[in-house]
Amino acid sequence: MNSKSSIHGLLFEELAAFCREHGQPAFRAKQIWGWLYAKRVASFDEMKNLPAPLRNLLGEHFCFQCLEKIETKGATGQTQKLLLKLEDDELIEAVLIPARARRTVCISSQVGCKMACAFCASGQCGFHRNLTAGEMVEQVLFAAEIYGERPTNVVYMGVGEPLDNYDETLKSIRILNHPDGLGIGARKITISTSGVIPGIERLAGEGLQVELSVSLHASENELRSKLMPSNKRWPLNALLQACSDYTAKTKRIITFEYTLIKGMNDLPEQAQKLTELLRKFPCRVNLIPLSEVEEFNGERATPEAMQYFFKTLEKAGINATLRDSKGSALKAACGQLRARKL
Ligand code: SF4
Repeated sequence: MNSKSSIHGLLFEELAAFCREHGQPAFRAKQIWGWLYAKRVASFDEMKNLPAPLRNLLGEHFCFQCLEKIETKGATGQTQKLLLKLEDDELIEAVLIPARARRTVCISSQVGCKMACAFCASGQCGFHRNLTAGEMVEQVLFAAEIYGERPTNVVYMGVGEPLDNYDETLKSIRILNHPDGLGIGARKITISTSGVIPGIERLAGEGLQVELSVSLHASENELRSKLMPSNKRWPLNALLQACSDYTAKTKRIITFEYTLIKGMNDLPEQAQKLTELLRKFPCRVNLIPLSEVEEFNGERATPEAMQYFFKTLEKAGINATLRDSKGSALKAACGQLRARKL
């Protein structure tokens, strides 16, 4: 394994400090940053306006591309799933989801996941390690290469729990958001969490305008703990209080994700209970049919049950959307990523 760290894992300030420490003029950091993220070259050698000794110095200290694309599934212009190999031979996945003017990429934040949600293939594979900021940024660069331009939206909704890898996730967001680089607006970046309260509390103090999406999937603790074991540690009432505090502090509206599973969490009384829980503060709710996986003995809710659930929320004045899960044919939908060869 290459012991050098990824150049894409550096904040602009860290790159500037590196240049300073090596006696380079201040403008060099901006030049290098431009090659990395505006021109998106594939090697240090392509950074034509840098003197050769500086290109060599960068090559001695940093690896340029630490991820290797193993496989792409799906047609150009439609949802595509990328299987990527890390330097230690671990595998991760990223998903491209184009829709009209949007070029979204869904990226992974960990190899595997500790949260072990019952319906999620990623969670059933166990946890291997956190990704570095550079490994997250490189997933976005692979998407840029395929799209032919930078992605407009980034969602941290692939394999892993991003708030369980807080520091590297936030660092990658600051790199993606930098105006002289990819310049992906904070509001176009979504962190999706299973409900890690300490992470939500920290995020509230970052002053970042990112979107926060919280997976609920149940309106009472017993069922939620069965579906999401992390609920035993961060139960519903405490989680919703943290979400309410987050909204009060940041003035940002949270999106709650609710996957509808036939006969399990799609009953009329569960819809009613959800409205009671969420009436307390402004929010949005995404209702998504289950993306079935072999590891979980559950089926997607019927269209009638989904409509009833949706109408119940709507009547209660909750801003709800009934979504289809993009990418289920490719096993690229939420909960279906498992990072293995297709
Ligand atoms: S749904 Fe998300 S948090 Fe839960 S196990 Fe899967 S990757 Fe982890």
